[in-house]
Amino acid sequence: MRKPLLRIPYTELLPPPTTIPPNARSLPGAVTALHEFIKSPPPNGLPPSTVVLSGAGLSVASGLADYRGANGTYRVNKTYRPIYYHEFLASHEARKRYWARSFLGWTSLHTAKPNTGHHAVKDLGQLGLVSSVITQNVDSFHSKAHPELPTLELHGYLRSTVCTSCWNELPRDTFQDELARLNPVWAAFLKDAVASGALGTEDPAKKRARGIWMNSDGDVDVPYAPYTTFRYPACPKCITSPPTLADGSRGVVEVDHDGAGSASNTAGILKPAVVMFGESISNKVKQTAEEYIDSAGRLLVLATSLATYSAWRLAKRAKDRGMSIAVVNIGGVRGEDVFFADLDPQQLGGQRVRVDMSTESLLPTLVEELRRSQTQGAGALPGPVTPLRRSETAVFKDMLS
Ligand SMILES: [Zn+2]
Repeated sequence: MRKPLLRIPYTELLPPPTTIPPNARSLPGAVTALHEFIKSPPPNGLPPSTVVLSGAGLSVASGLADYRGANGTYRVNKTYRPIYYHEFLASHEARKRYWARSFLGWTSLHTAKPNTGHHAVKDLGQLGLVSSVITQNVDSFHSKAHPELPTLELHGYLRSTVCTSCWNELPRDTFQDELARLNPVWAAFLKDAVASGALGTEDPAKKRARGIWMNSDGDVDVPYAPYTTFRYPACPKCITSPPTLADGSRGVVEVDHDGAGSASNTAGILKPAVVMFGESISNKVKQTAEEYIDSAGRLLVLATSLATYSAWRLAKRAKDRGMSIAVVNIGGVRGEDVFFADLDPQQLGGQRVRVDMSTESLLPTLVEELRRSQTQGAGALPGPVTPLRRSETAVFKDMLS
């Protein structure tokens, strides 16, 4: 049996970032190196298309917090520890806490928008320079910014909830309305917080000053909040037809007069449609991610430390295939020494690029430069890439439905 691919947080310190080639320290130098990366044919006759692998840093400019600081430690909130799937399934109290925080975080996440980095990825797709995107982000910003570019959400998405018994999905918006109805005091607190601007994504410093911080999983930390009072609904489908459990018994799916789930429920438990820590990535998603890597000749890693094994192994796969690799990330990257070993010191970006920089202004500047060179006929950009086969994009469409 193949080992399940679990999502597990990486807590080791990351190596210090490098810069390759050396002139990629400045913005113009980094743009030149990435231009070289994109215009150089990949080695070994690999296809001249580029797959993007993105992470939390890309959404920082949209007001979402990254988990990691420049030295790879958890910087956002020293006490923050993501909930594990088994804890979520096992504990009514843990679910109350999760949904209370998620209830407060949803408004900010829902009103946050893709930023210049996501739009630059869209532009790279339209220029025929990027053929597909694999993202670890669960904020749906890629699919909002470029719905036409095949995008695989490796760790799922927050826009839906999913039942852990029948795997039916429900829109998160509808679920949010249910949480507000079941928790009027919390709904009033949220209304006040929104009105005061404390949850406004436009001013993260203000949020912090008021003791509220939103993590990139869309969860909000409110010190001293009485999570034990929070109520959440059960899966509507499982309420009407409770499923049979693994031991052959009938699952318990009970709700009170308002529709709030009971502490004794053993089925019909809704979770966000994200791959939680300690949960396996489905084989379908795992295989599609591998297909995206295998159908490209270049890997462009954007704003991720590759700390999560599921992302790191894709970059490792690209390296093992001999693909050209560029990494744009502030701070160190897991396995940095491996990815950038044995390089020709004379290479200017055609094989490897490593930039210790934010994507926010770098990517739009790169797009401008590529457009200029295309217009002038200089730089000999590759032509449009062959779109992914229908079967490869079908998974993405399935996931959006
Ligand atoms: Zn269900």
